[in-house]
Amino acid sequence: MRFHIITIFPEFFSGPFEHGVVSRAESAGLLAIHVHDLRNWTCDRHRTVDDRPFGGGEGMLLKPQPVFEAVEAVLPARTQRQKVVLLSAQGRPFTQRLAREYAALDDLVLICGRYEGVDERVAEHLADDEVSIGDFVLSGGELAAAVLVDSVARLIPGVLGNEDSSRNESFSEESEGLLDCPQYTRPAEFRGWKVPEVLLGGNHEEIKRWRRAASREKTERLRPDLIASRERKQS
Ligand code: SAH
Repeated sequence: MRFHIITIFPEFFSGPFEHGVVSRAESAGLLAIHVHDLRNWTCDRHRTVDDRPFGGGEGMLLKPQPVFEAVEAVLPARTQRQKVVLLSAQGRPFTQRLAREYAALDDLVLICGRYEGVDERVAEHLADDEVSIGDFVLSGGELAAAVLVDSVARLIPGVLGNEDSSRNESFSEESEGLLDCPQYTRPAEFRGWKVPEVLLGGNHEEIKRWRRAASREKTERLRPDLIASRERKQS
């Protein structure tokens, strides 16, 4: 799978993908990440990417022309297995479900906004999806794009070994709407806090039951919204 990131700060991405799972997957040829400088598609001497909003208001917007031309250069014809995503605070929430959907694509183009945002015609006529990574405002789409690449990359077949499998983790299809269970490692007692006894014995049925109950307890405590939506689905 190929990721294409369109940004005015290409250097931003020299760090985030150089570690762990994403870097290993890239070396193994399971994915490629292409970072494109939006300014390559500007036509003036100053390589201008922004302009003032019509109707007045604070700040500047990324203007449509370089963004359209950048995307059209990267994906001259769009197939069903190629998607263009605009990162935006106004977008629909990014979820593991969407990450799974994107992991099946050939190409994913990520447009990073800056300043006060991007001319709305990009959302209306260029992007397939407008996606937000949460209800807060970042100063640019670059961090959000890195979040998408990381979470999508680890779902591409072959990227995670058995050891760090994406099944049975929080938000996986197998987890049935519950968070992953709490996990402990050695020592069995640390500063007087003991690991739950059941995990130290070898009774796999009992461990399974404990984990399920602990998942449910933790989900109820930290994410009651997930329990509510799970109950809505079941009824
Ligand atoms: N004026 C906009 C915020 C612009 S922030 C508003 O109030 O909605 C500048 C850029 O940062 C955006 O164009 C977008 O690309 C990125 N960004 C900010 N918050 C984001 C979020 N929660 N998710 C994804 N991208 C975000």
